[in-house]
Amino acid sequence: MPYFPVIGLEVHCQLATKTKLFCGCEIEVNTEPNKRVCPGCLGLPGTLPVPNKEAVKLAIKLGLALNCEIDTHALWTRKNYFYPDLPKGYQITQTGAIPAHDHPICKKGYIEITSENGEKKRIGINRIHIEEDAGKLVHDFSPENSHFDANRCGTPLCEIVTEPDIRSPEDAVLVLQKIKQILEYTGVSNANMENGNMRCDGNISIRKSEDAPFGTRAEIKNLNSFSNLQKALEAEMALQAVTLDSGKEVEQCTKRYDANHNKTIVIRSKEDSHDYKYFPDPDLLRLVIDKSLIDSIRKSLPELPDLRRSRFESDFGLNAYDAQVLTADKEISDWFDLASKTCKNPKLLANWVTSELMRELKEMEGGISTLKFKAEDLAEMVNLIENNTISGKIGKTVFAEMLATGKDPNTIIKEKGLVQITDTAAIEAIVRKAIEENPGQWQEFKSGKAQLRGFFVGQIMKNSGGKANPSIVNRMLDELI
Ligand code: ADP
Ligand code: MG
Ligand code: ZN
Repeated sequence: MPYFPVIGLEVHCQLATKTKLFCGCEIEVNTEPNKRVCPGCLGLPGTLPVPNKEAVKLAIKLGLALNCEIDTHALWTRKNYFYPDLPKGYQITQTGAIPAHDHPICKKGYIEITSENGEKKRIGINRIHIEEDAGKLVHDFSPENSHFDANRCGTPLCEIVTEPDIRSPEDAVLVLQKIKQILEYTGVSNANMENGNMRCDGNISIRKSEDAPFGTRAEIKNLNSFSNLQKALEAEMALQAVTLDSGKEVEQCTKRYDANHNKTIVIRSKEDSHDYKYFPDPDLLRLVIDKSLIDSIRKSLPELPDLRRSRFESDFGLNAYDAQVLTADKEISDWFDLASKTCKNPKLLANWVTSELMRELKEMEGGISTLKFKAEDLAEMVNLIENNTISGKIGKTVFAEMLATGKDPNTIIKEKGLVQITDTAAIEAIVRKAIEENPGQWQEFKSGKAQLRGFFVGQIMKNSGGKANPSIVNRMLDELI
């Protein structure tokens, strides 16, 4: 019996601020435990929270990038629960148990994804709210004790909640990729899943047909990679199908994904919002946001990935796939954009970036910013191929030298004497020499054995050190025949 999945995501990302959400403590990774703390974020009595304006601006920026409405009177609430890493006993957030108390800073947005077959789908964004992170428990110092590190307490987060509009685990991955891409383009978050500054919970239910009412969902917490998101959703889907096929009902619950056994495991039955005793935080006023602030943030929005992709397609004549590959990563896409400004053939440049350069980047430790040569240098190398100063093959030699030394292509070509031979007299001499040295093959070639063209071109290129212009070589062979 086939089933159709219904999926919604909840994505937490750490906002890229200097300091915490309600105090002046700096946010710093890799610092000693409990170094970035003050009475405020430790939850000591007598302290009062002061919202971080930069965090609010980043949340608005994200909301605008995700096509949301901005609530100009967002409301801070308390989510009360006991956990050893939460010294205050509550988390300040923007969710309410009743509509009057539920005023997240952004709501009613959407993003667009493009499936592999080119189909575009719009996925609703239900809300984005700002909230503070909890601390961390560290269990691996000793078998007897757990240790508490408060550095993360009060770190600003945004939670992005999608509508249950996603219809396959593959599409869920596309949605998460698109959100990550937008976070990176806007600089709202570093969105690094390995460092835990972006985390995703996947909600999934199944049903018997695409127009049946939604089934009961399970929520799988803390998926920390695209592949784990996909595998966890697939595993949960299979499990729910078995449950329904055996005549039982799916129970709403919160789960985690065990990647080693490719299984989802229940952590707790689903808590209801009333369990958290949400109420408006009496220490904080409504977050009144000026329309002019929203306008100025809107103006500061950078070119977003979808727009950039279509610009790359139309301005440079790239196909959809190449444009997608070149815009997936913000840094690479900025780099390509810069290089394209001085390049005479951006399409050829795109080929070099998507093939040679990206292959190298995969092998390298750092990103594109750690390359020894500049974007303009690759543009110039492509120009040199374009104007026949060097062949594409010599280009690979030059490129390898650029990678190793950071020298610019003109210097490399001069130093290594790599300029392409376009002087027909010089080429003719090399062609004639190849014919003299291989009289038998030349006779066969002349009498119609066309495969021998490759042999002669190979000989000539070898004798010219790869520098003879191949189209002149071919033309000359035709003439001499
Ligand atoms: P809660 O506040 O209890 O977590 P929400 O209404 O905020 O519930 O939904 C949380 C997530 O679950 C959202 O991403 C939403 O899209 C998704 N979701 C809601 N209903 C379903 C369903 N029946 N099947 C799959 N996902 C769902
Ligand atoms: Mg929720
Ligand atoms: Zn603090």
